[in-house]
This record gives sequence, C-alpha cells and structure tokens, in this order.
Amino acid sequence: MNGFAEIRRPDAARLSGAAARAGALRERYGELEGEALLRVMLEWEYKGRIALVSSFGAEAALLLDMVARIDPATPVIFIDTGKLFHQTLTYRDILVRRLALSDVRSVGPIAFDLAGHDPDSALWQQNPNLCCYLRKVLPLERALGRFDAWITGRKRDHGGERGGLQTIEAVDGRIRFNPLAHWSQENIDDAFRKRGLPRHPLSEEGYASIGCAPCTEPVSAEAHGRAGRWRGSVKSECGIHHPRWSRNHP
Ligand code: SF4
Repeated sequence: MNGFAEIRRPDAARLSGAAARAGALRERYGELEGEALLRVMLEWEYKGRIALVSSFGAEAALLLDMVARIDPATPVIFIDTGKLFHQTLTYRDILVRRLALSDVRSVGPIAFDLAGHDPDSALWQQNPNLCCYLRKVLPLERALGRFDAWITGRKRDHGGERGGLQTIEAVDGRIRFNPLAHWSQENIDDAFRKRGLPRHPLSEEGYASIGCAPCTEPVSAEAHGRAGRWRGSVKSECGIHHPRWSRNHP
C-alpha cells in the first residue's frame, strides 16, 4: 500500500532462514506448549530477542502471567489503536501492576498515517481492513523492529483460519510462538481460576473476545467467542497475524 510511513521488507535470506528455523524448532520442541515452551524460548533460544504481543483482552492475563513468572522484564507490545475500550486500558494498568511487568510498550498509529488516511477517525466504517492496517499492522511491525521472535495468545479453539494453528511457525522472517494453540476454553478458564487471575471488566458483560470498541460486541453464551468481532462483516481477523511478505509460510 502506498502513502504510508512504510517499513522495510525482509530480504529473501531472512524469509527462508526463518522458515528453516521454525522447522528445526518444531522438531526439537514440537511437544512443548504453555509455560514449558515459553521458558525454553525466553531463557534459552531467544533470550533478549523475543517479545510478547498482547491485546490485554479477554484471555490475555493467562499468557502474561506465564511470561511474568519466567521473566517479568520480558518486552510486552500492546497496540493501542486509539479505538480501544477504556476498560482495556484500565485492565492493562491493573495487570502491569499485579504481575510486575516492567517493559510494557504501548504503541499505536503515527500521526502521518492518520492524517493521510483517517483524518475524521471514521475509517473503520468505510474500510475496516485499511483501518486495521494503519492502526494495528504497521504499528506492530515497527514495534517488532529487531526482535527475531514473538509470542501470541492465538488458539485453535478460536476457529476459522486458526483451526490448524501450530505452536511454532515462521512468518515474515520471524519466528512466532503460539503456546496456547491447543488449549480449550475449559483449559483457559481452569488456569484463570488456579492462578487467581482477574478477568477483563467487560467479560462479565458478555464480551468474549475484546478488540476495538467500534468493532466489538457482546455475544450470547452459545455463540462462538469471536462472533462479536466485526459482526455483520466477512472480516474475522485484523491482519497482524497474516504474513505480508513470506513466500514459504508453513
Ligand atoms: S478493529 Fe475496527 S477500529 Fe480497530 S483498527 Fe480494526 S477497523 Fe479500526
């Protein structure tokens, strides 16, 4: 896309190197998940070169707690799109204090991109894909910078294109870990109880998956968790998890 404060594309060697590295990591650590996988990556394989990307949404506290127990100084990237619920910002601050996270980096869209493409702050209505691109995708790519690997809280249980998710993958020249990929909702709820973690303030109001306020609605108990995101639209992902440049995405 043109007209943005763009970011550099990884070269072919980096893309193919990451794909090969992901394959090797899967062979070695493919049986690990959750805190065991995180510990190996944070303390050994990617020490000082890895970040957790967290929405501080409905299930985020679990992964944040796992990371904090290993190293509370792990960099945590939080994308503040400028469209989040104020309850999410409050929840972020509560969890930062409670888990003693010491390196949470709140990032967001830059003024140049907003002025050029969303001057009246209504792009989410006209072109949500473009809105997500400038408010989420570009800020994340800038924030990942020199990190070689990152961690997400995505799960197969979320459905859709996440149904075949692996715990270790390569995308756009980096390694991406999904330590909870195989966890069920029951596993998540059980872990919240055992760890005594606070829920997002909107969870009790029926918000099962929590993103930007204009694009998130509560759902019934029977509905799938992500059904409340971009309701009435075919859109189901914001784009931060889609490869932008990878040729051989596994
Ligand atoms: S979720 Fe909605 S408001 Fe948030 S960045 Fe995407 S389109 Fe914009």
